[in-house]
Amino acid sequence: MTNTLTLNNGVDIPALGFGVFQTPPAETAEAVAAALSTGYRLIDTAAAYANERGVGDALKASGSARDDVFIESKVWISDYGYDETLHAFEKSSRKLHVDVIDLFILHQALPGAFDKTIAAYKALETLLADGKVRAIGVSNFMIDHLTTLLDETDVVPAVNQIEVHPYFQQRDLQDFGTRHGILTQAWSPIGGITSYRGDDSKSTFNDPVIVEIAQAHEKSAAQVMLRWHIQHGVQAIPKSVKPARIAENFDVFDFELTPDEIARIDALDTGVRGGPEPEVVTLETFGRDIPED
Ligand code: NDP
Repeated sequence: MTNTLTLNNGVDIPALGFGVFQTPPAETAEAVAAALSTGYRLIDTAAAYANERGVGDALKASGSARDDVFIESKVWISDYGYDETLHAFEKSSRKLHVDVIDLFILHQALPGAFDKTIAAYKALETLLADGKVRAIGVSNFMIDHLTTLLDETDVVPAVNQIEVHPYFQQRDLQDFGTRHGILTQAWSPIGGITSYRGDDSKSTFNDPVIVEIAQAHEKSAAQVMLRWHIQHGVQAIPKSVKPARIAENFDVFDFELTPDEIARIDALDTGVRGGPEPEVVTLETFGRDIPED
């Protein structure tokens, strides 16, 4: 099984990456350093996480060759619009200390201001044409958002980064992406959102089916969920600030789930979203200033 996936423009992307949502800015460089030394070669951050600088600091301190690490970041909705999004790239690349961002994506659709969303995406197309980013994409786009985007722009998004874990699988949206060459990236891939919001009784980590499969392979629940994504061809970006878990989440290339085990995990879908409903995202409710530095 390969550790790399290929985007629709031929750019390779590691099948497993490292996320930093909710990683405090002061702890980000340390967590990313641990991830890089473990072997992760994709770091997923966002302007809205306020920790791009920590990612950039760790990348610089690691001494890694620039083309050895795949850096992904996201434009926040407050920076949508053509000129604003071009400027958002300047802000992100400065904080990340890089000239080129490997994958730059729109963090959310703005359903009530979709013209701004389209203008932001056109800025991504310009950044791509200018070689400032190697691939572009979107996040949290639903089928109708993607349909309009495909109608009104030229470059098919390389990825749609969406909530996918055993309890919320969005199969229709994933299938739509597959049909159009859009890779699904799973956020909360091990179902962090089913536990860090407080109610552990609904956590994927404690799911009896997942725990049973994990025991059969002498692996953890998190490792089984990551293996499930990999075998489905879904790109996953688990987050942790704990070095032991960072290592555990990367140690998933030495076992294989059976088709029956995959089917049992597929059957756990509840259809209940953990994150915000994409249709209700507005500048009024979710807008926030993204600082220059
Ligand atoms: P994850 O599914 O990655 O779970 C992370 C949570 O699980 C954290 O609370 C972490 O705690 C804990 N954890 C990590 N590893 C293990 C383990 N092996 N065993 C038990 N617990 C573990 O959820 P996230 O929501 O963080 O999603 C991952 C990434 O996806 C984000 O960091 C971000 O990059 C991206 N994302 C994107 C969104 C979007 O809108 N585009 C929305 C949300 C996330 P601890 O750190 O203490 O180990």
